[in-house]
Amino acid sequence: MNIVRQKGCRDILPEDTKIWQYIEEQIRDICKEYNIKEIRTPVFEATELYSRGVGDETDIVNKEMYTFLDKGNRSITLRPELTAGVVRAYIENGLSSKIPSPIKLWYTGNMYRYEKMQKGRYREFSQFGVEFFGSSSYLADIETICASYELLKRLNIADKVELAINSIGCDKCRKEYIDKLKNYLSPYLNDMCDTCKIRFEKNPLRILDCKEEKCKKILNSAPVITDSLCDECSNDFNNIKNTLEKLNINYIVDTRIVRGLDYYNKTVYEYVSKDLELAVGGGGRYDKLVSVLGGVNTPAVGFGIGIDRVVILLKEYGLLDNIKNNKIIYFLTDDSTYIKSLEYVNSLRNLNYTVETNIQERSFNAQLKYANKLNADFVIIIGEDEIKNNECSIKNMRTGEQSKIKLDINSIKEKIGNA
Ligand code: AMP
Repeated sequence: MNIVRQKGCRDILPEDTKIWQYIEEQIRDICKEYNIKEIRTPVFEATELYSRGVGDETDIVNKEMYTFLDKGNRSITLRPELTAGVVRAYIENGLSSKIPSPIKLWYTGNMYRYEKMQKGRYREFSQFGVEFFGSSSYLADIETICASYELLKRLNIADKVELAINSIGCDKCRKEYIDKLKNYLSPYLNDMCDTCKIRFEKNPLRILDCKEEKCKKILNSAPVITDSLCDECSNDFNNIKNTLEKLNINYIVDTRIVRGLDYYNKTVYEYVSKDLELAVGGGGRYDKLVSVLGGVNTPAVGFGIGIDRVVILLKEYGLLDNIKNNKIIYFLTDDSTYIKSLEYVNSLRNLNYTVETNIQERSFNAQLKYANKLNADFVIIIGEDEIKNNECSIKNMRTGEQSKIKLDINSIKEKIGNA
């Protein structure tokens, strides 16, 4: 039996990796422009980081983690998300005294969740995320929204997703709201799904994003959290809405958004593709997580965008035209001219051209066939005669035109144009 990949994992093959690279390039550009610094943290962490940081009662921790004992009997978990890991690294490395605050970090990487497979839902998937530490101002929330929105804009999918925002308040106003919500829900409890019955006791806010029709119906007339916000939370939320309007960033308020993780407070948001029924990303404020994980009380805000799902959107909407393909130059050589031709092969490669050459000792005709299959733009022929005359033949594979030119890099460049 051949060994096959694990359920929920995918091999991303060259025809797709170029889409990933294109997305990652935009991410790098935007983070450089916003002066957000990259952080890379381990793929596995102590299980406690997630049970304490993400929350014992969340689906992620409760049902979806890849947890195992290592050979030293430590409980290890493959990261199901990256905020907790970044917070751990922020505290452990004393970043607050090394980088001027507010500290702005970004990451990309694979996450692992034991989930039911469906389109856009995998067990290994990748996120791009940003975490800001040290600013309690709504302006930090705004900058995270601007950065994530900018990525969607550059990828031409900003108008394909809806930005939905909400505020889940601070500890004080959320507690008051939860009391109101429970009062409202308790007469209906028997009519709700089993998960919501458990959530009612353990995590009532999560009832708000239940997808079961019968629960959704009951929730239609439930009190909404934005009516229960205290002055500070309400001011912040109004400021965010007003600023988004001034920045012409379209949004809707969706009071059902609570996000799946326990650490959020105040602003929360999601980008959702209604057409494809896919959540593309989400984020929000998590002012208590640093102290929960043992650091000094530090306000923080961030987001995560699922790269796998961005790829799905780009493909579904046929938005791959901006992916730049280098021209392919094929150097056709024989045994006696191979070494000499490498001079030119390497010069062009150093100039950022994509160059292939004969690595299989193939005949002239076989090389030409291969260049055709590669869809090469130009074939440069360097045989013994050419070397003798200090020239090369160059064939434009698009037009079929062939000519002899001087064997020097500038003449070649002139003929083939930009990379
Ligand atoms: P979350 O950390 O659950 O808020 O997810 C943030 C984003 O990551 C989502 O909006 C998705 O785009 C992506 N995502 C989450 N879970 C998965 C998954 N199992 N497979 C693919 N993408 C995912």
